[in-house]
This record gives sequence, structure tokens and C-alpha cells, in this order.
Amino acid sequence: MAADETGVLIAGLGPVGAALAALLARRGVKTIVCERETEIYRLPRAAHFDAEIMRLFQQLGIADAMLAHSRPVGGYDFINAAGEMLMQFAAAPETAQGWASGYLFHQPALEALLRDRLTALNVETLTGWALTDFDDDGDGVTATLSDGHATRIIRAAFLIGCDGANSFVRKTLGIALDDYGFDEPWLVVDTVMPDESHLKPHGVQLCDPARPVTIMPMSPGRRRWEFMLLPGETPEEMMAPGKVEALMAPHMGAGNVEIVRRAVYRFHGLVAKDWRRGRVILAGDSAHQTPPFAGQGMCAGLRDAANLAWKLALVVEGKAAMSLLETYQIEREPHARGFIELAIAMGKVVCLQDTEAAAQRDAGMIARHKAGGAATLPPPPGLAAGCLHPSPRAGELAPQFGRFDDGRAESAWLLHRGGAAQADGVEAVDIRGLAQWEAWLGAQPAALIRPDRYVFGTGTPDDLAAAWRRSTGG
Ligand SMILES: Cc1cc2nc3c(=O)[nH]c(=O)nc-3n(C[C@H](O)[C@H](O)[C@H](O)COP(=O)(O)OP(=O)(O)OC[C@H]3O[C@@H](n4cnc5c(N)ncnc54)[C@H](O)[C@@H]3O)c2cc1C
Repeated sequence: MAADETGVLIAGLGPVGAALAALLARRGVKTIVCERETEIYRLPRAAHFDAEIMRLFQQLGIADAMLAHSRPVGGYDFINAAGEMLMQFAAAPETAQGWASGYLFHQPALEALLRDRLTALNVETLTGWALTDFDDDGDGVTATLSDGHATRIIRAAFLIGCDGANSFVRKTLGIALDDYGFDEPWLVVDTVMPDESHLKPHGVQLCDPARPVTIMPMSPGRRRWEFMLLPGETPEEMMAPGKVEALMAPHMGAGNVEIVRRAVYRFHGLVAKDWRRGRVILAGDSAHQTPPFAGQGMCAGLRDAANLAWKLALVVEGKAAMSLLETYQIEREPHARGFIELAIAMGKVVCLQDTEAAAQRDAGMIARHKAGGAATLPPPPGLAAGCLHPSPRAGELAPQFGRFDDGRAESAWLLHRGGAAQADGVEAVDIRGLAQWEAWLGAQPAALIRPDRYVFGTGTPDDLAAAWRRSTGG
């Protein structure tokens, strides 16, 4: 059988596979995506994404559409069984990324928008086709797909496993998972409510040792409810008719509610030991999974896509050495772990079932909240090592003033004050007269911003251009 040839084959058309395919297609890399299912996954999943991710949606041309499908986060309250505030996170309507600190949304709506983008970008998407086998011979990957009847062979320079938590790609490679040991079963329910004015506009974590509960607004008219299973409770009894209604009743007040989806999940923290073997790479849930308390699982996967897309494009085009791909896990793993550890710390606050320990927790947290007021979530970590030029601001996420990114090249940018050096694939941007950029640069003559909008480094244009050439191996 003749093989179809492509630059990149992506297995899995969840949000991460779809975003990666779109980013690659925008860079002109021939990409095929295969997806085992024929429809978008319907069970309840992500409800929150952050400012950095909205900036990525802006790059993909779907930010305005996502605004219509989401609402900015109003705040995030942790309260005890008596309704007292334990901890409160404030939200910001505007951040250095040019967007609000967070948005609440409905994952299938995002996935539909991403698939529309793939159609517009002419990406070949094979839905109903599962990856069933692959072989990396060092020069490329030969993959076998099946739709249950027929098979197809695809020869790709790289195979990316965006195939989710039970990743076939990860298991086939025999890559082990590092388990944080956090493992809690929760019932997750999505509802549609025509009138939700009687409910808090904030996300709420009810830290009640008798039954921890999460109540989270999603896109307008939608709300997420999560109930922790108590010892001895089974998924079957949580899914039984009338159970969800009984669990929601004490928190609902008046108003109509339609239960649209429900599922029992185990919330856990897992990280794959290796994210790349030769020409086969993992991204998204196949590489790492987090409890959802910080709303960051999909966000981490989309950051993987942003990190990987430009590196893969340079390597496939022969403009960078394979060694550039080594920086992918070096940069992304500590970042993803930072959010997993934050989510587990939040989960340990929420999931406490021992009443005495909960009373002690409450006393300490109430006192701290009274003294300190609302907190802000820690800013996302930067990159500590990888494709960076050691210099001030290296590894930070570059700010966006206004809608600066719109209409700019997908490439790296050299922000300078005149006398810019030429570097292949780098857009020179003269920032003289742009007061916010000049203030941000301070005493530095120039900054090189990577295509994923992390700062490569600061310094003179010549030094930066030379360091970029060395670091990408081009
Ligand atoms: C209850 C809950 C709440 C969450 N809340 C948030 C939140 O608020 N914010 C957030 O950022 N994240 C959240 N998440 C996490 C988020 O939903 C996931 O991180 C995200 O869906 C992962 O995307 P992905 O593309 O990596 O994997 P998936 O979305 O799982 O997609 C993988 C795709 O691969 C396909 N596939 C599998 N095997 C094959 C194969 N062999 N061949 C071809 N295709 C295959 C699957 O059919 C699937 O479509 C939450 C998750 C849960 C469960």
C-alpha cells in the first residue's frame, strides 16, 4: 500500500492536537491529524482558561469568537461549611497579556471553533481513523491508521501523540508516568440554566468535610457542579436517577436547571517520564494530567502546542537541528509541574474529610484571609532553562500592549531601537516611540521574543541574532 507523506502526523483531535495542527499549518508545515472518534467529545471537561491561552487564541484568529462563548472570571472563593470565607482569589479584567486573567467557557464550543480553523487552513483531518501502529526508523515515522474496516499508511517526519490521558502513543513507547499520589473520585455535572441571577457569579469551592463541592460558572447560561465521592460511594450510585438533583438541591435555590452531562472522574496528578523518543513526541494530557482545581490541564497542553509548533516547523523545514526539540521537555515539564503542584495544594485544602483537621484548617485560613484579604493567583511561572539567551527577562512571557500581536509575523521578533541585525526568520520591530515597550526594555537595547511569545533574551541586536542562530542550531 502506498503511504501518504506528510511533515507532521498528529494523533488526536482534542484541543491540543487541533491547536498544534493549526499552528503548524499557519507556518506552512504539511500536517495530517487522525482522530479515533467521529464526533467532538461530549462529556464535561475544561471550564477555565487563562490570559496566555486567550493570547494564543488571538494568534489562531478565534479570540473574538471565544469571547462570545465565554465570560471573564469574576473571582474564586474557597468557603467552609458555615459559609465563611477561607481564601479568595481576585480576577483581573486586564493583564500584561492584553486579556483578562481568566475566562470561563464550554470545551466543546472551543473544539468546534478549532476544527473550523483547520478546515479554513486546509488541514487534512481524518476523523473516525485511529492510530493503531507506528514505527520510527530514525529518518521518519511510518504510521498505520484504521477506521475499523480499512487501513491507511502515513509516512511522517514526526508523529505527535495528542491522544489524551490513555495515550496509545505513550503506552506503545512504554513510557512510565510519575504519579503525585493524589487520587480523588469526583462526580462532574454540567447544567444549562436560563436564569442564574440567584447564584454567585464567582467560582466556589465549598470546603465542607461532609461533602466537598465545586460550583463554577461556565459560558453564559452554563454552570459546572462537582461533588466529591465519599468513602464507599460508587460511580454507579452517583450516576443513579435522582442522585444529581438531590446533591444540587441544597445549593440551587430557585430556578430551572437542565442537567446536560455527567461523569465520574478520578482527579490525579501524573507526568510522563519522557515526552519525546526520537521522532515521536507527546503533548497535552498524554504527557501530563492535573487535578482541575486550578483549571489548567488544557492550558498546559495548549502551552505544549505553542512551544512545540515553532520548533517542529524549523526542524521540518531544515532550518534548525533536531537538538532544538530537546528543549521542549526541558522547558515545558517544570512549568506543567508547577501548575500540577498548585492544583494538588488547592485539592488538599478542598478534599479534607476529617472534621477536626477541617476545623483547624478553617481557623488558620479565616484568620489569614481576614488579615490579608483577597489574594491573586501567582503569575504563571516563566521558563528556567532551554532555548534561552542568559540575560535579563530571558524566559519571561513577553507582555502584549493593546493588540500588538495582531498582524505580526508568526516568527520570532527582534524588538529594537534602531540598528537591528538581520537574522533569518526573525521580524525586526522598531519600538522607538512605543512608550510601553521602551519602558519595558529599560536600559536594554533590544529583546528577542520567541514565536511562542516567551523572551529569548535581551542585549544588543547583533548578540541576540547570533545567539538565536546558535540556539536554534540553524
Ligand atoms: C472534570 C474536568 C475538568 C477540567 N477542567 C479544566 C479547566 O477548567 N481548565 C483546563 O485547562 N483544563 C481542564 N480540564 C482538562 C482538559 O479537559 C484536558 O486537559 C484536555 O481536554 C486535554 O486535551 P488533549 O487534547 O490533550 O486530550 P483530549 O481532549 O483527551 O483529546 C485526545 C483525543 O485523542 C483521541 N484519540 C485517543 N486515542 C487515539 C488514537 N489511537 N488514534 C487517534 N485518536 C485518538 C481521542 O478520541 C481524543 O479526541 C478538565 C478535565 C476534567 C476531566
